[in-house]
Amino acid sequence: MGNHGGGSELVRVDLDGHLLPISGLQHLAFCPRQWGLIHLEQLWTENRLTVEGKQLHERADLPGQSQRERVRSVRGMWLRSEKLQLFGRADVVEFSPVPYPVEYKRGKRKPNDCDAVQLCAQALCLEEMLAIPIPRGAFFYGDPRRRLEVLFTAALRTRTAELAGEMHRLFDSRTTPAAQPGPHCRNCSLVDLCLPNRTDTAHASASWLSRQVTTLSREPAGQDPF
Ligand code: SF4
Repeated sequence: MGNHGGGSELVRVDLDGHLLPISGLQHLAFCPRQWGLIHLEQLWTENRLTVEGKQLHERADLPGQSQRERVRSVRGMWLRSEKLQLFGRADVVEFSPVPYPVEYKRGKRKPNDCDAVQLCAQALCLEEMLAIPIPRGAFFYGDPRRRLEVLFTAALRTRTAELAGEMHRLFDSRTTPAAQPGPHCRNCSLVDLCLPNRTDTAHASASWLSRQVTTLSREPAGQDPF
């Protein structure tokens, strides 16, 4: 994780200025601070994984259509949802005729739901745009090279909508969340920019200072809390 397209979808972009990129949901689900660093502070660093991921997406993103038996595949389809205030682009949507979003990912399946919320958001956009229920979609992972189907359950839909709401709240506050260091930092492409242990310490210091100020303001006059 930690991969993202970099560059083109980093800000709230649309005519009314109220839509945020779907790609931010996977960053937020992975780590709120990573989302803030990418989408608020516009920080980005390439590494081998991100370059490979971007190349994979560039290949899948080439707009176009193809037909195989009864399945029409649309590549690079633009999506938007007014309900969730999201926009983005699907790697591939297969119409058979029910729409079936397919997202290409380098590497293995993740042990978290970051990818699933991104795909579910695509389905929610398609449902709103086409007024048709979309029960499932799929990932195509590079290692091993195979499809993995995802069911858009009620729980996944709720989680996706909640994350979209949280993303808008964070965007409106323009506040990059504090680091929450953990094993996930090992897979984060921004670890050298984030410095999670140092920022966590800084956050802890700020919290400690804030607590001391609160305590001090409650102390009766003449006492020294230190
Ligand atoms: S290094 Fe860790 S805390 Fe910092 S952005 Fe990455 S995952 Fe989040």
